Amino acid sequence: MNASLKPDGTTLQQVKLLIDGQWVESQTSEWHDITNPATQQVLAKVPFATTDEVDAAIEAAHRAFQTWKLTPIGARMRIMLKLQALIREHSKRIAQVLSAEQGKTIADAEGDIFRGLEVVEHACSIGSLQMGEFAENVAGGVDTYTLRQPIGVCAGITPFNFPAMIPLWMFPMAIACGNTFVLKPSEQDPLSTMLLVELALEAGVPPGVLNVVHGGKEVVDKLCTHPHIKAVSFVGSTAVGTHVYDLAGKHGKRVQSMMGAKNHAVVLPDANREQALNALVGAGFGAAGQRCMATSVVVLVGAAKQWLPDLKALAQKLKVNAGSEPGTDVGPLISKRAKERVLSLIESGIKEGAKLELDGRDVKVPGFEQGNFVGPTLFSGVTTDMQIYTQEIFGPVLVVLEVDTLDQAIALVNSNPFGNGTGLFTQSGAAARKFQTEIDVGQVGINIPIPVPVPFFSFTGSRGSKLGDLGPYGKQVVQFYTQTKTVTSRWFDDDSVNDGVNTTIHLR
Ligand code: NAD
Repeated sequence: MNASLKPDGTTLQQVKLLIDGQWVESQTSEWHDITNPATQQVLAKVPFATTDEVDAAIEAAHRAFQTWKLTPIGARMRIMLKLQALIREHSKRIAQVLSAEQGKTIADAEGDIFRGLEVVEHACSIGSLQMGEFAENVAGGVDTYTLRQPIGVCAGITPFNFPAMIPLWMFPMAIACGNTFVLKPSEQDPLSTMLLVELALEAGVPPGVLNVVHGGKEVVDKLCTHPHIKAVSFVGSTAVGTHVYDLAGKHGKRVQSMMGAKNHAVVLPDANREQALNALVGAGFGAAGQRCMATSVVVLVGAAKQWLPDLKALAQKLKVNAGSEPGTDVGPLISKRAKERVLSLIESGIKEGAKLELDGRDVKVPGFEQGNFVGPTLFSGVTTDMQIYTQEIFGPVLVVLEVDTLDQAIALVNSNPFGNGTGLFTQSGAAARKFQTEIDVGQVGINIPIPVPVPFFSFTGSRGSKLGDLGPYGKQVVQFYTQTKTVTSRWFDDDSVNDGVNTTIHLR
């Protein structure tokens, strides 16, 4: 019933749902193509699940929670140990699929998997991460301790740009904490996510503990409103993240929404010139600018304004090609729609009076003429009212602003509504310390262009880039996926004590 033929007569892969440990063919009538962004070849078809299918996945997770929450922590930990070993073993194969469906280079696809694998490695320590606290003798013979208990069925909604890392930010920690999970991957590139889910089953995640549904707004809204769902973790654009936060919040869920960004790199004239320029170009144009932590604004301070020609020269050297080809620096954008949006923002920059230093609009990639390519694009003379500054472009476009002092640079960054990441390039410890103290952004890099924290810390975007107080992975996510119960207890030694009636709230 779901068969669909490729031009060569073979069957096109139809992505399955995962419900209660079974791979299920969706009965939906709505299917979307998953295309290779460098070639437009249709790789597979993804269903937009029906309401009944989403309900079935949530019910399965709800049933599984009744036993999974009681599973010894060591057993959960051993599944994570097996999962990390399997991901390591299969990462090259998954990277090929990820690169084909998402467009990033093979090396970057391996990085995408590796940064997720690190979270799974961290989940292997859940025994100590989920420990409670104990205080002895808080009153005579009275002890108080805390239990960190799982909260129930959790849902995760993920974006297209990290189809391995971001699902791995979510379900391993949620499950390791004793919750069950319903994952909704990006409909644009779910194939590599599904390979990771297969490995989770192989590692021993029991039926119903991890479920997968595919789809768009309808499926997401169902996850945000269903009474069995206790927490929603969202990563994606600001528009959708705000909607998810509001809707799930109104329905009483815990929510974390990690959203869009405009990340400024501030360059002081005392910075190591070569290192700083390399970092700016790598972080600005790598993954075709489709990273939430990509550098998208360069702020040249004082004499560093003279570095613009060098920045341009370095960006010009980048090689635009399909992610599968050796030596590629900049791959295609995820879709034709994404390319059109980036091109129209470039047009707006020209119209609004910015100087187009480097124009990537007409880039030609031999052998991949149909690809969604935009070459490195650089604007100078940018002002804060231009759309290329106010909007997240999510493409290989770097905008350069100039200021005279570090104070002005800090004020500029702090008045931008987004607060995901920022970086300072300098050799001065005093300037770095001032910057880290005064800057109002969640993730700060000092001579580090993409300061995504390792998993013992948490991802800490802030202001317009994040809703909800607890971020993904690290200690914060253990708090997010558990509820704290305090137990205050006193044990009597038969008849040895008799305090009489106490009508106050004091413990004695
Ligand atoms: P997106 O918001 O379009 O999609 C994210 C998810 O929401 C997908 O699963 C999608 O199916 C679903 N969705 C789409 N439209 C919806 C709607 N109307 N209602 C409900 N759900 C809907 O984001 P994207 O284009 O896949 O990803 C790129 C965005 O994600 C960028 O803005 C980027 O900055 C952001 N991002 C942020 C972080 C972070 O940690 N802050 C990390 C990665 C990506």
